[in-house]
Amino acid sequence: METFVGKSIFQKLNVGPIFYFEKQENLVKRETIEDPEQEILRFQTAQKEAISQLEEIYEKAKLEVGELSASIFQVHSMMLLDEDFLDSIYHMIRENHVNAEFATGKTAENFYTMFSEMDDEYMQARAVDVKDIAERVISILQNKGTDFSFVTEPVILVAEDLAPSETVQMDKSKILGIVTRHGAANSHTAILARMMNIPALFGVDIQKSWHNHLAVVDGYEGRLTIDPSEEYLSKVEIKRQEEEQKKKLLSEMKGLETITKSGQKVHLYANIGRVSDVAQALLNDAEGIGLFRSEFLYLEASDYPTEEEQFQAYKRVAENMGGKRVIIRTLDIGADKQVDYFHLDKEENPALGYRAIRICLENIPLFKTQLRALLRASAFGTVAIMFPMIISVEEVRRAKEILEAVKTELKNLRIKYKDVEVGIMIETPAAVLISMELAKEVDFFSIGTNDLTQYLLALDRQNPKLDSFYNPHHKAVLTAIEMTVKSAHEQGIWVGICGELGSDLALTETFVKMGIDELSVSPSFIYALREKIRNID
Ligand code: PEP
Ligand code: MG
Repeated sequence: METFVGKSIFQKLNVGPIFYFEKQENLVKRETIEDPEQEILRFQTAQKEAISQLEEIYEKAKLEVGELSASIFQVHSMMLLDEDFLDSIYHMIRENHVNAEFATGKTAENFYTMFSEMDDEYMQARAVDVKDIAERVISILQNKGTDFSFVTEPVILVAEDLAPSETVQMDKSKILGIVTRHGAANSHTAILARMMNIPALFGVDIQKSWHNHLAVVDGYEGRLTIDPSEEYLSKVEIKRQEEEQKKKLLSEMKGLETITKSGQKVHLYANIGRVSDVAQALLNDAEGIGLFRSEFLYLEASDYPTEEEQFQAYKRVAENMGGKRVIIRTLDIGADKQVDYFHLDKEENPALGYRAIRICLENIPLFKTQLRALLRASAFGTVAIMFPMIISVEEVRRAKEILEAVKTELKNLRIKYKDVEVGIMIETPAAVLISMELAKEVDFFSIGTNDLTQYLLALDRQNPKLDSFYNPHHKAVLTAIEMTVKSAHEQGIWVGICGELGSDLALTETFVKMGIDELSVSPSFIYALREKIRNID
């Protein structure tokens, strides 16, 4: 039995076998092959498949985002036919007798360096594309994806790190825990683990040799125990029974009103990232959905989700919530939420970069597709639309203008939709400081304390080295929340919190005293919050 410590992301306990997940990019190994011509044929088959995938993607993208943005996929296809690129691969296979994966990866690396050193901006941008097409070919050669379909039994997933796009693709019922070497406590991978109710530890000195070994992931103590002794396992069992008991006691909160002793009402909503999370929201008696992170629909797809696909997803959430308010945030891609098919440039400071509403206001077809899907879904429940990362009144007006244009288009086509509430996230210092003016533009505010803390304290939420500095209890953060609540109420609109701070029981009373109208949290926190609020005078 051996114990390793880590940073706990979610307090829960689970026992199970370890699955060591090795990422694709680590798997390209140099191998010596016997028959170079046969290997070239193998490469050419993968190349053909990649081109046909890209053609399909191009056709879909053309409809979704317009010809101009979609043309990148044609560029990719052309690059896959580039003579210099192919010559280099064939030469390596013939001369060095290396496998096609290695030759493709090595050639891409060389072209990447060559392109990124060129003066021409267009050519510099092609550097990332070369990597992208090489990855596509390599994954076809290896017959691999990151859809986790290879995990068939419940396991504790161990990995160097996990991207949000990977985490969101996991089948929750097969994941008993997540343990990684890298990862920050405020990253979206961490948020997803909490939303999925999965114990997770980051910063653990993981080892590949653990694969298939039995382990205990203890999110209360921040410990991972490999090959636990019988004695330790019986202690774990007792702890798990206590956990169950506590859960049962809390579930007595089901159906009760969330109201303080003096009669102040607070709405308790759930944060979700996938349609299937609605089950947890309902199970935990959420009064609505306070934040549907719609970008996860994009993250789990390998291509732009169509209007119809999005409509079906939003409609299901709206219908399943049976008329309760469902706040759907428009696309908040960028920073740690990267989607390959968006082909966003690599940025020096992605958290301060091209993300969220900034992308939507520049890519109108993309934005309109989502708004059309949202409005169509509004006919099936109580949908509200929320714009993220707002810094100015102009942005809100522009976003609303586009929304109005989409409404007119739907009206002309006689497609049904309901009037929706429109809100914004308050998650930048700029938005807090002009919250008085912003409140005149919208129906509600939702405070995103995750980003707000990051920007107010100048601390990258993705950097694990800063976890101990990241202090959402900082006076600046609490003052900003108070200011926002005041501005909202002075303009007669409601205001909630949908960042992780909303579930911090140590601050619940503070928020209630400030007059917060709503708290939106991971479903498993709802009962504890209700109990807390019902005990406040
Ligand atoms: C936030 O920033 O607090 C928030 C809720 O949004 P996200 O965590 O997805 O950035
Ligand atoms: Mg945010």
